[in-house]
Amino acid sequence: MAQISEKVRTRFAPSPTGFIHIGNFRTALFAYLFAKHNNGVFVLRVEDTDQNRKVEGAINVLLKTMQTMGVVADEGYYLSEKNKVEDRGNFGPYLQSERLDLYQKHIQDLVEKGSAYYCFCSEQRLEDLRKEQTALKKPPMYDKLCRGLSTTEIAAKQEDFVANGTRPVVRFAIPPEGVTTVQDLIFGNVEYENKLLDDQVILKSDGFPTYHLAVVVDDHYMQITHVIRGDEWIPSTPKHLLLYKAFGWEPPAFAHVPLILNPDKTKLSKRQGDVGVEDYLNKGYLPEALINFVAFLGWNPKTEQEIFSLAELVAEFDLNKVNKSPAVFDINKLDWINSKYIREKSNSELAELLMPYWVDAGLIKQDEKLAKEFLEDIAGLEKERLKKLSEIGERTGYFFAEPAFNPELLAWKKSTLADARIKLSRVKDLLSTIPDETFANAKLLQDALMAYITEQGFDVGAVLWPLRVALTGQQFSPGPAEVASTIFVGLGKEEIISRIDKAISL
Ligand code: GLU
Repeated sequence: MAQISEKVRTRFAPSPTGFIHIGNFRTALFAYLFAKHNNGVFVLRVEDTDQNRKVEGAINVLLKTMQTMGVVADEGYYLSEKNKVEDRGNFGPYLQSERLDLYQKHIQDLVEKGSAYYCFCSEQRLEDLRKEQTALKKPPMYDKLCRGLSTTEIAAKQEDFVANGTRPVVRFAIPPEGVTTVQDLIFGNVEYENKLLDDQVILKSDGFPTYHLAVVVDDHYMQITHVIRGDEWIPSTPKHLLLYKAFGWEPPAFAHVPLILNPDKTKLSKRQGDVGVEDYLNKGYLPEALINFVAFLGWNPKTEQEIFSLAELVAEFDLNKVNKSPAVFDINKLDWINSKYIREKSNSELAELLMPYWVDAGLIKQDEKLAKEFLEDIAGLEKERLKKLSEIGERTGYFFAEPAFNPELLAWKKSTLADARIKLSRVKDLLSTIPDETFANAKLLQDALMAYITEQGFDVGAVLWPLRVALTGQQFSPGPAEVASTIFVGLGKEEIISRIDKAISL
């Protein structure tokens, strides 16, 4: 038997659909972490045997997402510095549609060995067969009609097909007896009776192999040691194992990772909302937060620690800490993790990350130059509260344009509108006497306000509430001194006075 690599080699084998499903990304991440933990190699191969499902530009999108997430393959496809799709490694091509000769040669070998056979059955016949079996409550499977054809029958049918300009498919001949055991690193041993396995099509009439054949040939030639993939592939694995056997190859180890469910236990699917990694990135979940969150979908370090960098995950990750039971996608947990990572950013990093979201919200124009300090101050004010970057527009609109609000909001709960008007004009007088250095520092400004309130014997809320509403127009927001100080930095003292005047007039 051909020997497989000593060094751990894992792979991510996505189909080019145009986005990465969170579940697929989780599989990729586990394969990456396992390879890196074992000083191994992580390969990215694109599985495009289903030409009907091809999406233009899909590989580019896929690689861009992988790169943003920091999960880049050592071998196979990657995005070059110039953002070009490139591949590297000794086992290419890494795109299945460029490996057709290899598959066809191996399919031919199987046919010659009697491990595969041509099937001439029409779509109609197969459809009728399926209906019949379903009516009898039997699992639909091919009845092996063509498996018994003689050489002369085959030759005659071949001729008919050629005359019609079509090609027969090739099916794998599953051994009729015995049991195939999948030894899964996560699920343990799962036994399959060969007689219940379908004689799978391995070569389609368009000359493309099916996934089942291509995945086995590629994993073998790319010297993959550990196949890590979603548990929906477990029932296919006995067929893959029988293919390895028919070729005389040693199979890799298999680790199937559990399904991801919504909190209501339904399958995480596009119909219920966002499932693409890209969707979450666009909403302003930070890549490092998403990685941390996704790693916990099915894996857990068995300690209290919940915040892990990619490097820490590499150090900790082990397949034996992956659960068998389905993982639950809990968006609140993602929000929580994301807010932790947002807090770790410096104000200037955060302001830069927020820029596209401000532009998106129409608060800043694409090439508008605003004072960096102003934006950093705003970022700093919201840092503790933001769950995702896309919330920034609705939270901070008042910094960019005078807020519109219902004047009733100006009345503090224990007071009246008339009193709010008095307090606002008093505070306006006070603010005009405060020097710029105090304005520029939220803490000093707060102290000055408090000293004044105490000296006048006012209720704190009776002053701070209407002042805050005058500046923000919001029911909830950071405190008035912090807001005023930030407005001072970005828009000047006149803006503060003008907002207070406006509130008084309301
Ligand atoms: N192309 C398959 C998919 O996208 C890969 C399955 C596997 O990893 O073997 O699900």
